Amino acid sequence: MPLTFMDQAGLRGSPGQRDPFVPLMPGPDFDSGLWGTRPDQACCDEKEIARAIASDELQIGRLDRGEPLVGVPLGATYAVPIPIAGRPGWYIERPMPSDPPFDPNTPSGLDPCVEYCTRVHEWFHYVDRRPRFEGWAGSQYLRFVERPAYVLGLECLYSFR
Ligand SMILES: [Zn+2]
Repeated sequence: MPLTFMDQAGLRGSPGQRDPFVPLMPGPDFDSGLWGTRPDQACCDEKEIARAIASDELQIGRLDRGEPLVGVPLGATYAVPIPIAGRPGWYIERPMPSDPPFDPNTPSGLDPCVEYCTRVHEWFHYVDRRPRFEGWAGSQYLRFVERPAYVLGLECLYSFR
């Protein structure tokens, strides 16, 4: 099956800037890509997939209600804020250091399908160059940053059902 990619709106950073990170996003089939190698579903535990689906659905509901996320994150992408010239208070986030390999910091022992979709979630953060505003409330920032990542990870998990 050919790879399909979506170049989601707003991921190319501030206008006029070329971004060295190619913001390729997984397409609807969630095939392998720079975020990882899609595992054989037969290697995965459907109970673990169901548990991860329930967790992501819960988190999306919490984000929509302005509530903090719960539980232990399965992955992490570290980033530094970069101010946008000419737009006071606005900035983008860039993975640190300036040109790192993609490393989602997933714990060992995860179900392979859950790990793959965690990598998809973290990949979203890795290539997310949408401008943020420093005046946003914490819950607004969290929803802005995390909701698309959770939706993408959830769609990935659905692709293993
Ligand atoms: Zn996240």
